[in-house]
Amino acid sequence: MTMEKNAGKTAAVVLAAGRGRRMNSQVQKQYMELGGRPLITYALEQFEKSRIDRIILVAGEEEIPYCRREIVEAYGFTKVCGIAAGGKERYHSVRNGLAALRGQGISHVLIHDGARPLLTEQIIEDALEGAERYEACVIAVPVKDTIKIADGEQFAAETPRRDLLWQIQTPQAFSYPLISRAYEKLMSREEYQRGVTDDAMVVEAMTDRKVKLIMGDYRNIKVTTPEDMILAEAFLKAENRLWKNI
Ligand code: C5P
Repeated sequence: MTMEKNAGKTAAVVLAAGRGRRMNSQVQKQYMELGGRPLITYALEQFEKSRIDRIILVAGEEEIPYCRREIVEAYGFTKVCGIAAGGKERYHSVRNGLAALRGQGISHVLIHDGARPLLTEQIIEDALEGAERYEACVIAVPVKDTIKIADGEQFAAETPRRDLLWQIQTPQAFSYPLISRAYEKLMSREEYQRGVTDDAMVVEAMTDRKVKLIMGDYRNIKVTTPEDMILAEAFLKAENRLWKNI
């Protein structure tokens, strides 16, 4: 295990591109103020404190100068070694983030939604260990509600067994060569690109590697709609992690 851990460098790709339309806000959700500082800084801070060696931030092309000045320099994130331009869909942004790490001797990479500020060092460590052990893993929690699959007219069509259902979060963690190959293959196969919403799907479709589900934390929410800001603030406050107490 120790040998594996020292085999190469570890990296994180933190996603902060995309418009976040479900938030109904002028400011993109990842830059909205949460307890006195931009939301994206909470996840970056946890990676900065962890055993991850380097970070690639992925931002919209027009936001790159803002991110460099107001996020990376202003908060002193020394592990951020580059800011890559995002793409139209999440999978374009991930692919660009992975490409920015090419040729740097990276053995394992964590891919994280910048819109999940409740990330902790423990989750990062669990994801890294999962990647070292299984080559592909995702942080997830068992669903609490019954889930139904709807038909086209919003009638219940099917009810999958709840005890087998997991809600998938990030970080999603992989061997770097495996996930890079999977993404390069995806980019050359347009028929597989529709509806790709996470990285595990790319590994499942493009390789024969099985993806391990690693128990995460229900607090690790993705800030998507306005009420999520209230929840994120409450969780951060309870953990004494808010920059400015409100
Ligand atoms: O849109 P969704 O909620 O799935 O976004 C998850 C994460 O992916 C967010 O952190 C968002 O910033 C990022 N994203 C991106 N590029 C896109 C779309 C989303 O980096 N084109």
